[in-house]
Amino acid sequence: MLIDVRPMLKGEVREIALDYLTPAPEDFKDIHFTGDIRIKGAIVNHDGYQVLDAVAEVPFDTHCSRCWKEISRLFTLNIHKVLATRKSLQNQDEDNDDYLLIEDQKIDLDSPLLEAIVLEFPYTFVCKEDCKGLCTKCGKDLNEGDCDCPKKEIDPRLAILQKLLDK
Ligand SMILES: [Zn+2]
Ligand SMILES: [Zn+2]
Repeated sequence: MLIDVRPMLKGEVREIALDYLTPAPEDFKDIHFTGDIRIKGAIVNHDGYQVLDAVAEVPFDTHCSRCWKEISRLFTLNIHKVLATRKSLQNQDEDNDDYLLIEDQKIDLDSPLLEAIVLEFPYTFVCKEDCKGLCTKCGKDLNEGDCDCPKKEIDPRLAILQKLLDK
């Protein structure tokens, strides 16, 4: 959604409140978005420079990386951007993520937001911090109790793999 900031640039309002929904990114990897992104916040004019502060929330389903149980979570991202015109950015890098470009007296928050979500997404989740995961031999969910597999030393190659999975 394009946000019209003309009233602020003209000095008519000091603050523009934001509260709207925008479509979630495409599903990726094992992440399935279950609703729209909700953006809540405000653009505030501070003595001639405009600052956007907002929180974006998007619900998703995924699997616990240890026991593969399905989990539903809410991803939250804080957004802090300074609004700038192309002219005011002349001497700076236009790709600087701290700035949001004003074009035709409007700003487009959604495209940088989608980018930021994909970038900041943690990718792996656990159902609970101390999830014991599945037995690598019989596949039993060890959260439900121990299995009868012999507890011998874990193959060092598997140990490395387990470490990577736990990250
Ligand atoms: Zn788990
Ligand atoms: Zn087992």
